[in-house]
Amino acid sequence: MYDFEIRHAPDAGGHFDGFGGKYAAETLMGPLAELEAAFYASWEDESFQNERLRLLQQYVGRPTPLYHAERLSREIGGAQILLKREDLTHTGAHKINNTIGQGLLARRMGKKRVIAETGAGQHGVATATVAAMFDMQCDVYMGREDMQRQAPNVFRMELLGARVIPVDSGTATLKDALNEALRDWVASCQDTFYIIGTVAGPHPYPLMVRQYHTVIGQEARAQCLAQFGCLPDMAVACVGGGSNAMGLLHPLRDDDIRLVAVEAAGHGLDGDAHAASLAAGRPGILHGNLTYLLEDDEGQIKGTHSISAGLDYPGVGPELAAMYEAGELELEAATDEEALQAFSRLSRCEGILPALESSHALAAAMRLAADMQPEQMLLVNLSGRGDKDLDTVVKIVEDQKAAGQTP
Ligand SMILES: *Cc1c(COP(=O)(O)O)cnc(C)c1O
Repeated sequence: MYDFEIRHAPDAGGHFDGFGGKYAAETLMGPLAELEAAFYASWEDESFQNERLRLLQQYVGRPTPLYHAERLSREIGGAQILLKREDLTHTGAHKINNTIGQGLLARRMGKKRVIAETGAGQHGVATATVAAMFDMQCDVYMGREDMQRQAPNVFRMELLGARVIPVDSGTATLKDALNEALRDWVASCQDTFYIIGTVAGPHPYPLMVRQYHTVIGQEARAQCLAQFGCLPDMAVACVGGGSNAMGLLHPLRDDDIRLVAVEAAGHGLDGDAHAASLAAGRPGILHGNLTYLLEDDEGQIKGTHSISAGLDYPGVGPELAAMYEAGELELEAATDEEALQAFSRLSRCEGILPALESSHALAAAMRLAADMQPEQMLLVNLSGRGDKDLDTVVKIVEDQKAAGQTP
């Protein structure tokens, strides 16, 4: 089911058709080169890969099922909808595939401490989880604003033995936490490994994180062939930074499959309250790489909005920018409202509460499936479970009830 060939590798400078690269402080060039060499050596090392697969199986719960949502497909009356169930992994989302990989690499490199940035807290929890298992010290940078909005995840990280460091700079959210983590790493890289949470950051991070997540698409491809005797016609994933999307889509790139990325349209793409970096952004440099960004005319990063904290990032992984410009990727968007509708539809129709991030992918998938034929198949990455979002959803449903609207 799994193969370790690195397809569509970036060039020596870490560029994917010009996007990506290594725009980092001089002092980080050495550590980044060391990281790159260690990553490639580990990737070729059979014992490393065996240990990674053992943990993905025994600890994470892979392979995750590929589920044919028959009732939902019937209701929509178009293509058959297949769900890749990343929501069933340990910690409830795809992010742990990456933290297992980077955690193992940190151990191999002899690092005793890991650091991470987190927005909603999901990547922080996945990092703290792995740090506990590997007996490593763990510090997680989190915007003070986010710490207030996501208090239960702060508590989770602390229970797992991590220290959560509040970040007050900028807007005190994810992008500022990432800046602080990079700053820490400049001073601490001797004994510290920086675990980045998505396919962003300077080279080799976008490549590494992608490779750790390709288990998603490799499994889905094999499962689809085994269960249905053919490949899907279309594959759909939501995009925050782009790690679950690259994980699902990358192993399907060389097949004749339409690849679709779904961005968060927030209150709508016509205003500024969204997080659609590809649809509404332009190339610029952030967090060590050249990619599509939401920035104003002065080059300042704009504030973003999405109902799902995990999609609320003003950039996108550089390889997705390259795929988009090359015409390899179709772009869709879903608003807060559409994501909420998809959330309740999947809950009622299939008994699965999806994460609000994944609900964006579902919203677009249901729209696209309706225009397809019943003998066609559409694969959706259900990147996480919705339990973490219950407070958000319940509050909105209560408000709608109070306003006399039916949910
Ligand atoms: C973090 C998160 C995302 C967005 O991150 P990507 O790197 O774009 O995958 C999507 N879904 C869930 C459930 C998440 O936790």
